[in-house]
Amino acid sequence: MKEVEVSFEARESPSREQIINKCAIQCGVQEKNISYFEVMRKSLDARGSGILAKYRVRVAVKGEQIPEPFKIIPYLDCAKGEDVIIIGAGPAGLFAALTLLQRGKRPVILERGKDVHSRKFDTAKLSREQIVNPNSNYCFGEGGAGTFSDGKLYTRSTKKGDIRDVLYQFVKFGADPSIIIDAHPHIGSDKLPSIIEAMRNCIIEHGGEVHFNSRVFDLQQIKVGNNIKWRVVCHSDIVSTSEYVAASVILATGHSARDIYQLFYDKKWDLQAKGFALGVRAEHPQSLINNIQYHKKWQPYLPAAEYYLVTQAENRGVFSFCMCPGGILVPSATEPGEVVLNGMSNSTRSSKWANAGIVTSVEPEDLPDYEKYGALKVLKFQQDVERKIYSMNGGNLRAPAQRMDDFVRGKLSVTLPPTSYIPGAYSAMLNEVLPGFVARRLQKAFPEFDKKMRGYYTSQSLLLAVESRTSSPVRIPRDPESLQHITLKNLYPCGEGAGYSGGIVSSAIDGINVAKKI
Ligand SMILES: Cc1cc2nc3c(=O)[nH]c(=O)nc-3n(C[C@H](O)[C@H](O)[C@H](O)COP(=O)(O)OP(=O)(O)OC[C@H]3O[C@@H](n4cnc5c(N)ncnc54)[C@H](O)[C@@H]3O)c2cc1C
Repeated sequence: MKEVEVSFEARESPSREQIINKCAIQCGVQEKNISYFEVMRKSLDARGSGILAKYRVRVAVKGEQIPEPFKIIPYLDCAKGEDVIIIGAGPAGLFAALTLLQRGKRPVILERGKDVHSRKFDTAKLSREQIVNPNSNYCFGEGGAGTFSDGKLYTRSTKKGDIRDVLYQFVKFGADPSIIIDAHPHIGSDKLPSIIEAMRNCIIEHGGEVHFNSRVFDLQQIKVGNNIKWRVVCHSDIVSTSEYVAASVILATGHSARDIYQLFYDKKWDLQAKGFALGVRAEHPQSLINNIQYHKKWQPYLPAAEYYLVTQAENRGVFSFCMCPGGILVPSATEPGEVVLNGMSNSTRSSKWANAGIVTSVEPEDLPDYEKYGALKVLKFQQDVERKIYSMNGGNLRAPAQRMDDFVRGKLSVTLPPTSYIPGAYSAMLNEVLPGFVARRLQKAFPEFDKKMRGYYTSQSLLLAVESRTSSPVRIPRDPESLQHITLKNLYPCGEGAGYSGGIVSSAIDGINVAKKI
């Protein structure tokens, strides 16, 4: 068995025969002797005179053993299985539920938000009327924070589990099979809702339960016979309350569930302050990014170009985060009274803008003034920045903004370029809006980025504040072996909100790992 790389012009869609032919030449064997081939990865290469699509292919010749194809473990009827309560229907919660089904346990999902289709009306209201529903927005609701996103499925955390388990299940529920081989796979906000709905239907059809409008506000350990169980209390349909009891609870509430962190804090359950990253969203014309990344060779058949940038300033990392090619900026606040921006794209990534968070790390030791808040100190800092920005402009979701070069030079922008951010932007000095140490590091980083991507540092780019929901500012500590909370037996902090993952795929893998432990 060998792995070889074969290339074609990017505009070609090579047939099976064409790929085998090139593989045979590379392996120095006749085509007829190739007994098996599998494309493992497809990536684009714009470094030469043309644009190449490179295929990494696994090849076996006659007589060599052929690998077993990857198979999803079948979902079982779990109607009679033991209940496991899952709080939160984001990637961590949903993949935990699917993994429980594969083992015959019965997932009971409690989700504060609405089903994925109803949720769209609330995100539209948020953008157009600036009305924030604290239970249904870009972060909360079925599918979690990843639903109205770019749907990037790229992760660096490959050691935590088998990414194929996530990608193949996405395909099973309706994603394009190309995500299995794309070097940088993505799904898109237009496709994700029906995929999430198909996952929910699978959970219900196999005997699980999914409850929407069910915000959990209390967790109690109770004695049932000789056993200690968990009682989970939630608002049901907003007005009344409901209770659910089970031996095990997966807490997968995401990085914006501030009320859950507060609940832990009030109950004096172990929590830890955690570093996160904060900065701005940088929006460029997509055509400019295409020109840089494809060396002026971009053609309409090519995907919108991506980028990833990182540098050091004042001994701390400044880096691009969650880049959305051909995307738009969206208001990601989860409560009234705060301004937060994030990015999303449709599957075609066809808007005329490219946006990315440009952020720097903020560690608990950077915040001496917040010591009094203990484990919640980084969260309080994050909240203060978001609230300050909201109140600065008379209380609305418009974003303070500045041209990139004006920001670096400390000059107010006289005019602003157009933006995809529907609530709108107004000219402001971002070094006065952002915490001083964040603004300084970002000001140093942009000219450095230009050395890596010539043309990136430009007056055509608009910076908008603030990008602050990059990861959780709190960790809910768990035992590395059992994955249970360090002191609360059978409570499994899971996914991004617990501080153990970041992004759709790594959160899904964390959900799978926790469910396997149960
Ligand atoms: C606009 C946007 C774009 C993004 N783009 C990408 C991308 O392209 N690629 C990528 O990898 N990542 C992206 N992310 C990040 C990604 O969405 C998260 O990393 C991922 O969703 C985390 O998964 P999770 O299941 O741990 O938490 P979440 O997805 O946050 O899910 C948590 C769920 O818990 C629910 N919940 C919260 N509190 C309670 C409660 N008290 N009771 C009941 N339910 C509760 C929430 O409603 C939510 O559905 C994006 C995020 C946003 C906001």
